Amino acid sequence: MAAIELQDVNLALGQGPARVHILKGVSLSVERGETVGLVGPSGSGKSTLLMTLAGLERPDSGRISVLGEDLSRLDEDGLARFRGRNIGVVFQSFHLIPTMTALENVATPLELAGAPDAEDRAKAELQAVGLGDRLDHHPAQLSGGEQQRVALARALVVRPQILVADEPTGNLDDATGRQIVDLLFAKGAERGATLVIVTHDPSLAARCSRTVRLRSGRIESETEAAA
Ligand code: ADP
Ligand code: MG
Repeated sequence: MAAIELQDVNLALGQGPARVHILKGVSLSVERGETVGLVGPSGSGKSTLLMTLAGLERPDSGRISVLGEDLSRLDEDGLARFRGRNIGVVFQSFHLIPTMTALENVATPLELAGAPDAEDRAKAELQAVGLGDRLDHHPAQLSGGEQQRVALARALVVRPQILVADEPTGNLDDATGRQIVDLLFAKGAERGATLVIVTHDPSLAARCSRTVRLRSGRIESETEAAA
């Protein structure tokens, strides 16, 4: 069973004259444990595709199944629960909750899932990304790289089988970005997670087992990394 399977997915977003047909018949299959780099020009639909395969946008037509589950069969609550258990998401701009400490940000997904040991597990996850001494800091008190580590810990803490990241290094300098990517790949591999990463960075794309290139809402080409 593929980790992620899209069949002829179409999606338009926006209202009235501002409505844009973004994804145009996208079909894609991602195997378990694969690392896929999603590349292409700005505006080609990379973020929209990522949000769609992560169950954060529903397609207008076509089929999406994740870990064997047909997402269209889940209602909003069911979809939210499915995402919470199985899919970790990392954004370019971190998306941490500013009023919460690092520890609270990371514990939140576990608390939503009803885990009894949320705080201990969140602490361990922050230690694993090298932030054991920043538990009680708020996002504004952390550097960009540290905030992205918190976001990574938050994505990893539920032990999701699928990890998606939208330009995770886009707001970081090169050296800090490299550290985040090293962590992302190391943690993903350690857990056997399937990784889908949107990136403009050729060196990041080159680390993926496959590169998928989008253009104007369609898959233009796919490149398998040399073994
Ligand atoms: P990328 O991540 O490759 O830069 P996006 O997926 O963000 O591309 O966007 C693809 C296209 O869809 C762009 O032209 C963008 O302006 C448009 N778009 C994205 N989100 C919306 C929305 N909510 N409403 C209308 N148009 C949108
Ligand atoms: Mg984007």
